Amino acid sequence: MDLIIRNARLRQRDDLVDIGIAGGRIEVIAPRIDGSAGDEVDAAGHLTTPSFVEPHIHLDKALTAARARENTSNVFEESIAIMREVKKAYTVEDVADRATQVIHWLVGHGVTLVRSYVDVDTIVGLTALEGVLAARERCRRLAHVELIAFPQEGIWCDPGTDELMGRAMEAGADVVGGMPFAEMIESDSVRHIDFALELARRYDRDVQMHIDESDDPGARTLHAYAVAAIRAGWHGRVTADHVTALAAYDDNYAARVIALVARARMNVITLPTKLMRGGIRDKEPRRRGITRVKELLAAGVNVAYGQDVIQDGFLPVFGTGDPLQVGFLLAFAAQFSSRASIETLYDMATVNGARIMRRPEHAIEVGAAADLVVVKAPSVHEAYRTQAPRLAVVHDGRVVARNGRVVDVSSLGS
Ligand SMILES: [Zn+2]
Repeated sequence: MDLIIRNARLRQRDDLVDIGIAGGRIEVIAPRIDGSAGDEVDAAGHLTTPSFVEPHIHLDKALTAARARENTSNVFEESIAIMREVKKAYTVEDVADRATQVIHWLVGHGVTLVRSYVDVDTIVGLTALEGVLAARERCRRLAHVELIAFPQEGIWCDPGTDELMGRAMEAGADVVGGMPFAEMIESDSVRHIDFALELARRYDRDVQMHIDESDDPGARTLHAYAVAAIRAGWHGRVTADHVTALAAYDDNYAARVIALVARARMNVITLPTKLMRGGIRDKEPRRRGITRVKELLAAGVNVAYGQDVIQDGFLPVFGTGDPLQVGFLLAFAAQFSSRASIETLYDMATVNGARIMRRPEHAIEVGAAADLVVVKAPSVHEAYRTQAPRLAVVHDGRVVARNGRVVDVSSLGS
């Protein structure tokens, strides 16, 4: 064995177990594994689960707030304008350093699977992508990081972006992104979605987009996206993020669209840091900036949650990259009050996110990839309640963080 986690408490059983790991895989799960291994972790009866998954973050934008002007209105459009100013000055090294810092934070919190958006537009070209690709290379022993080519400024309202999107896929982006609501008119939003699906088919990639990130019930690109995915046969390979406008729809229209989302086997990611500006133009009562989480889950839709932004033009002060903190916010925003619902919340932070990244083997089972986290709590709901420390984090069969801090990467070998 390369590694043994001893005295681990699993979610699905009452007794404690040892977990034996070799060659990056879980080899044995038993009440007691005799002998020793190259490395050992004593979980001491604490919760041991598949690692956390961060399916929606912006590593290129993170940690830029200190260099940006203050957003006095807190409206989305001003954040976009601020980030336009900030990203003009990006260099590959600057982006790489900030992205590396945030990946280290994520790994310390127990995240080992990451999907990050990276802006691709006529302002930054491929500079942000090159920077995050460099960070991914630096952190390749710590976490599996996938990058989404993201046309934040729109495709048809930022001429030249269509060509840049193709170049981004050639340069190493893994997933085709989109922002159809950025377009000036609905017919262009539909063309934007069709373009993304066409690019995805050409490169055989998944699609993940920011969809209807608005309180406007007239934002209806989720409907077009679901239909386009069904027609393209891209079932299960499409993900819609935010979809806050869905919460503003009339209940009958919302039910119709949710049925299409389920039919497309479209994943949904909710981002509760959006609470900071949900319903920003409402007087009172004020909407919360999240989607219909419980209705989507009830319809059988795979729903995960993510951090989105950390100390950038969208969220200048807050953000740690800790899924327990983000989940705590979501529990209140989506009204997850029972212990059973907190189990669902934890699934959203782990296995549901892994399903989006199409890693269904993300489990504590013999034969599964050894990516896991030891959380200093006796149960999932106590982990959220106490924001419990992470004692150890394992990626690809090796301990990559202890007590919240990344280990010396050089000790991990090749
Ligand atoms: Zn986002």
